[in-house]
Amino acid sequence: MFPLFSYFSFLLFFFLHLSHPCFPARTTPEIPDTVTVLPANDFNNTWHVFERFLDTGKGSHVSGMSELKKYFHRFGYLPIPDTNFTDTFDARFEAAVIGYQTKLDLPITGKLDSDTVSQIISPRCGVPDTVHKLHTTRHFAYFSGQPRWTRQTPMTLTYAFLPENSIGYLSSSDIRGAFKRAFARWASVIPVSFSETEDYWFADVKIGFYRGDHGDGEPFDGVLGVLAHAFSPESGRFHLDAAETWAVDFGSEKSKVAVDLESVATHEIGHILGMAHTSVKEAIMYPSLSPRTKKVDLKLDDVKGVQALYGSNPNFKYSSLLQSQTSSNQAVGLRVRYSKWATSLVVLILCMCI
Ligand SMILES: [Zn+2]
Ligand SMILES: [Zn+2]
Repeated sequence: MFPLFSYFSFLLFFFLHLSHPCFPARTTPEIPDTVTVLPANDFNNTWHVFERFLDTGKGSHVSGMSELKKYFHRFGYLPIPDTNFTDTFDARFEAAVIGYQTKLDLPITGKLDSDTVSQIISPRCGVPDTVHKLHTTRHFAYFSGQPRWTRQTPMTLTYAFLPENSIGYLSSSDIRGAFKRAFARWASVIPVSFSETEDYWFADVKIGFYRGDHGDGEPFDGVLGVLAHAFSPESGRFHLDAAETWAVDFGSEKSKVAVDLESVATHEIGHILGMAHTSVKEAIMYPSLSPRTKKVDLKLDDVKGVQALYGSNPNFKYSSLLQSQTSSNQAVGLRVRYSKWATSLVVLILCMCI
């Protein structure tokens, strides 16, 4: 009996250990149950060409690496003029890779390892990242000069949608609903409210879907890649890439490259208010968002950052934020525990059948 039990225990341990990689190493807590794992070729965006630089490091010379350097330059990591980029992985590029890994909370290797390459090709916001000094303790960041809206508090900012360039496959009320909820999340933590107006040209925040080059020097790039961008205060310009498959409900939108409108809206409103990108992966202000992922809840890092600019909404309570985060963490933990328990049961039944 005892050896048989040990045999089962060994098999149980072996299968459980084997099953561990089924939980992806780099996930966001809000990944929906119906997440689809995409083969790289299904992403119709140019960043996947960067996969061929996997495992390169200082001293490597690979044709086309200058294009990756342009990517690093574009997102704030390589302050060298375009004309000077070569295909050699030199010391300056290594420093840029380390800066990128530090900012985005990746393992710091100075090489284009799989974590780094997978982050590079992830769809993201078009706003460049603000690189911290290494000794800083906070994670949230602001734009240079720390701009913010300077109305009297409590302030109301108006927002409007550019009438002629909406997207046909989503109803106006679905789009408006997603934005209303996104604005409400920020309004619940700071003494700023948002109100929709029909008067686009006089609105504080001007929202529009644009395709390709749309006149602000930051052309969109088609499916995935850059999803949207917004400008720092008090510009109010908020642009979404019309080439994306925007979704308000993944139940009805089945596309593998669908992007959650409300998640991107919540992130870009952070920029409209003056927040730059954070290093905290769970926070709204982290720059990337996977397709078919809903990530709409402000995290402590987002709240601390925006309240340092505007003060706190008198009705906001940290305890409720902490409570909601704790309960959502518990829910995630419960799901993992349940999955492991279910896996154990299946393995046990299999063992009994052997
Ligand atoms: Zn952003
Ligand atoms: Zn734009």
